[in-house]
Amino acid sequence: MELDQRLIRIGAHPSSKAAAIQQVGELLVAGGYIAPAYIASMLRREEVANTYLGNGIAIPHGLPDDRNLVLRTGIAVLQVPQGVVWQDHERAQLIVGIAARSDEHIEVLRRLTRILGDRALVARLTQTNDPQVIAAALSGTPTPTISPTPSGDEQAPGITVTISHPTGLHARPAGTLAELARRFQAAIRIHYGSRSADAKSLIELLQLGVEHGAQVRISASGPDAEAALAALRDAISSGLGEEEPLVLAGNGAPPAHGWQPRHSTTTIHGISAAPGLALGPTYRHRARRVEVSDQGGDPLSESERLQAALNAAAAELEQLYAETKTRLGSSKAAIFLAHREFLNDSGLLQEVARAIFAGHSAAWAWHQAIQSRVSQLQKLDDPVLAGRAVDLSDVGQRVLRHLVGAAYDPGPTPATPVILLAEDLTPSDTAMLDPDTILGLCTARGGPTSHTAIIARSLGIPAMVGAGASLLDLPDGTPVVLDGDSGALYVAPAASDLEAARQWQARLRQQQAAASATRHAPAVTLDGVHIEVAANVNRPADAVAALEAGAEAIGLLRTEFLFLERSQPPSEDEQFAVYRDVVQAMQGRPVIIRTLDIGGDKSVAYLDLPHEDNTFLGIRGIRLCLQRPELFIPQLRAIYRAAAYGPVRIMFPMIATLEEWHTARALAEQVRTQLEAPRVELGIMVEVPSAALLADHFATEVDFFSIGTNDLTQYTLAMDRLHPELARQADALHPAVLRLMARTVEAARAHSRWVSVCGGVAGDPRGALILAGLGVRELSVSPPAIAEVKAALRAQRMDELQALAQRALTCRSAAEVRRL
Ligand code: PEP
Ligand code: MG
Repeated sequence: MELDQRLIRIGAHPSSKAAAIQQVGELLVAGGYIAPAYIASMLRREEVANTYLGNGIAIPHGLPDDRNLVLRTGIAVLQVPQGVVWQDHERAQLIVGIAARSDEHIEVLRRLTRILGDRALVARLTQTNDPQVIAAALSGTPTPTISPTPSGDEQAPGITVTISHPTGLHARPAGTLAELARRFQAAIRIHYGSRSADAKSLIELLQLGVEHGAQVRISASGPDAEAALAALRDAISSGLGEEEPLVLAGNGAPPAHGWQPRHSTTTIHGISAAPGLALGPTYRHRARRVEVSDQGGDPLSESERLQAALNAAAAELEQLYAETKTRLGSSKAAIFLAHREFLNDSGLLQEVARAIFAGHSAAWAWHQAIQSRVSQLQKLDDPVLAGRAVDLSDVGQRVLRHLVGAAYDPGPTPATPVILLAEDLTPSDTAMLDPDTILGLCTARGGPTSHTAIIARSLGIPAMVGAGASLLDLPDGTPVVLDGDSGALYVAPAASDLEAARQWQARLRQQQAAASATRHAPAVTLDGVHIEVAANVNRPADAVAALEAGAEAIGLLRTEFLFLERSQPPSEDEQFAVYRDVVQAMQGRPVIIRTLDIGGDKSVAYLDLPHEDNTFLGIRGIRLCLQRPELFIPQLRAIYRAAAYGPVRIMFPMIATLEEWHTARALAEQVRTQLEAPRVELGIMVEVPSAALLADHFATEVDFFSIGTNDLTQYTLAMDRLHPELARQADALHPAVLRLMARTVEAARAHSRWVSVCGGVAGDPRGALILAGLGVRELSVSPPAIAEVKAALRAQRMDELQALAQRALTCRSAAEVRRL
């Protein structure tokens, strides 16, 4: 650990703790140890955990997540003879800023704890005018001050545990451990190598210098020794209260690849939705405007239509306001309240009413009234009022969409490659995007398992969602770097950062190319177990791409994409042609066609679906199909007809009860006999907890299960997959979800049925390994993930994956599973 004497500032007078951290941070920047952005991370850490060690010494350092901003390991010292208030009545006089990428700073802590125990030495260091005195003390060889191991302790009952925290037993986890130990009467010691420490003494614990991955023995003797050992074991295995790096939701995104700018720059944070790094100019996506015709009807019913549209738009705006407020605070959300206020403008409403009663349609009347106001505002040549014109026009369109029953129209795509910014995109907007012109995708709303995110992943476009309304303030053409892995948009970064990002992107591409070179080879583990890796697709063209990406089958054809963004459902013949094309494109490989899953975040105007307060818990998926045979029967007919062209399997979504499955199966069987078609395998998606819990019953009747982790996770954890805040935590590797999956696999095994997983977590190489260990033998993933998932599986032994999965099942949190 380096200590450059020039980085010791004597006699500093920071006005506050924040100023002290800023100053010591600047020393570290000057020494070339950290990027300037790390200072903000040091400040943020203090909000989570106070770094005051005791006896006038504090050791500010950044959050583990920001370790990439550490350029070199080293320390800097700010001596504050008068002291600065650190917390409550504690004053820090020696502020040791630490830049460490892993656990090198453990060594510094050991030295500091030696100093800490020596009040006279601390007094000297905080008053000296000579930086050398401080340098010598911090780089001297530590003299052990650990209390001697009491005789007889070797015989005390004990346990051996592994310290799995990435930075070892440093100050904060050691503090938690000591605090816990102090709650017990028993004498507790931690043994590490040839040394041991009193577990109740933070200083002694730190002096042990336990590093990441080290095994320690804990012994305890006294009345409550057994309870103490159990409590310590549990605390250590759950991470000693250390803050976790933000865990991505169960969307399959790999961990952050590590690039970050070195110079501080405006950063907009959102939720990671599709991995990768993208660089380019921004382009604000604006939906195509609704066309209005003037076919006036009866004024009363036109007025009622207007009222209904105004109510629906107001409800949407309230929801937008609430979502944005929880994420970004009321000031950023206020724009949506302002939008809603437009809907109550009495002058506007009177004008519309007059036009309706003069015989015009509600849509025409509304459009005219909005347009005249918009153009008046635009004429004023005032940027603020022009902004209001944009808002008014936005609201106008929102109401018009409800009036004419039109969905949001994607509008033109830009001609040159851009990073697309949008308030939100409907699933089909995203599906229509051209990966050649869209380098990256950022939306103000949405969650990582929304269909927007799923499609972005399947197109291989880095994406971030839920970034808040400020995203939409960026002028078109702003240069940005989008990090889809960690969900960050760096606005107008320094030229050197842009260049670094470009190089990083090139390296990532090389890694992908290496996995891609073997994408057509099967994923066979080192001990010979084959895991089929299939693709999730939406259209025939995707099937061709999937095959090219190395898919061994289609594990999920999301047929609802055929039904979106049109004015009536596709006919049986149209559906048949599409299914047949997919089946033929796969050249004899199996295709699982999932019947219509509309509802939830996928709505279709022409179906006149009743309003749902809780779209994900309403008439969705199979429930809708069972209510609407006029939709379901033609689809089943089309699928059975396509089955003549290759191996097809049928899968029903959102099955919650045996009754639903029975009805769906009976309808399928009825269609099949009418067509005199051969049998095909019939399976269900396991994406509602009840289906997993009753898997033993289902397994006697279905041919296969496909686990939909996106929905299974949202329903198990009661966390909306689109929720701007919760979606982050809705992690499919949560042990509660894993247990439901294990139960499903067990039931399937007992009845010799097969299980696949087609939810997003199957495409996360870490998720794929655990799923394979649980006994899943087919993973269906978005095509760009195929090569990487296969490469990850090939590097493992199945017996080890099984052991890993068993350990995952005993974990207490998703974070613990991810640590495995
Ligand atoms: C799922 O829920 O995991 C799934 C694959 O289905 P969808 O994402 O289409 O709801
Ligand atoms: Mg689902």
